[in-house]
Amino acid sequence: MRCPYCGHAETKVVDSRVSESGDAIRRRRECLQCEQRFTTYERREEMPLLVVKRDSSREPFDRAKLLRGLIVASAKRNVTPQQLEALIDGIESELHNSFSYEVSAKHLGDMVLKRLLDLDKVAYIRFASVYKQFQDLDEFTSELKKL
Ligand SMILES: [Zn+2]
Repeated sequence: MRCPYCGHAETKVVDSRVSESGDAIRRRRECLQCEQRFTTYERREEMPLLVVKRDSSREPFDRAKLLRGLIVASAKRNVTPQQLEALIDGIESELHNSFSYEVSAKHLGDMVLKRLLDLDKVAYIRFASVYKQFQDLDEFTSELKKL
């Protein structure tokens, strides 16, 4: 972060606190060269992640929908909603870290399966057996409910 006064590249953080709204971190910085102070804000990036379906249509990544599918797949298994939330968190951060703004439904399904295998084999098999045939989570969830 360059100093806005002299352009020097090195600054130190003299104070750091969560903003009143709770969605940003406010940092007070001091330039190591001119000693002027300025404020920066750090916010979570609003990433419009899109899922590309088999027919090439795109829809926004729907975290709640994926969670519902996972809950159905892990019904009556020793898996907590928190573990499923953490699984989705892992996928989201992997996509964030790779700066992917689009993910194919197939790749997304594979990411889920890879993690589900570590979590619960039965949930993995349920998810795999149905998901492989479908590229759409709505279809998938209703199909799983029939089982
Ligand atoms: Zn400066």
